[in-house]
Amino acid sequence: MEDKTKKCVICGAEAIIHIPYEGKAYCERHFVDRFKKRVRKTLSKEKMLKPREKIGFAISDTSSLVAMDVLIPIIRKWKVEALAITVDEGLGEYGERRTSIAKMHTEKLGIPHVVIKFQDHNKTSIEKMNTSRCEYCEKNRNELLLKTAQELGLDKIVTGNNLDDFAETAFLKLLEGKWSNASTFVSPLKEIPESEIMLFAKIHGIEQIRDCPYMDEFRRELRKELANLEKRFPEIKFSMTRMEKRIEELLKT
Ligand SMILES: [Zn+2]
Repeated sequence: MEDKTKKCVICGAEAIIHIPYEGKAYCERHFVDRFKKRVRKTLSKEKMLKPREKIGFAISDTSSLVAMDVLIPIIRKWKVEALAITVDEGLGEYGERRTSIAKMHTEKLGIPHVVIKFQDHNKTSIEKMNTSRCEYCEKNRNELLLKTAQELGLDKIVTGNNLDDFAETAFLKLLEGKWSNASTFVSPLKEIPESEIMLFAKIHGIEQIRDCPYMDEFRRELRKELANLEKRFPEIKFSMTRMEKRIEELLKT
């Protein structure tokens, strides 16, 4: 490794991360500063939240816990009312552990937590399905989140969807030709790679929730391929989401 990749580009202290798509390294303090700044930039660029709105954090993984953590000071300042929602898709032990982590974390932050169960809404538990689990799960989870938002009078649902999720979705959209997005959902971490979110979580003692064990084989392969491509082309996930955005814009006109 070259020397410049070991030292923080801002203060010269020992770096904890090298960002390949920037060619820069950062110490812990400046990594955290940069991370928060990037989230705030996405929030304001896309006007994701407004003062005095009522929002729901959809909590399903480490990314969504991080999104909630980073947004807390902002929503307090803006007098935004917040609660957290976890959809229990019937994922066995994995799901139970995930729900209890979500509960613990939201309690710590003083935010009310609501759990919505697939089984209470006539949805098949994912544990009992064999094929197309991801698609079924996503469709029904989003449906329940939107229904809950309507019932509770929420203006927005904040998801933890990150750059990796958006790149994956862009790929799927291209493959399947499906182009629609509910504008109730906002994702302030959409421009941040999962690896950086995991590091942020580690620094802040936020629990790691591993990938869903019921994930489709196809999704698993797709993730692996994207990760391989990223090693050779560090900007690939950014390019894919930019491409998706451009197609969305073209479709609107
Ligand atoms: Zn530094």
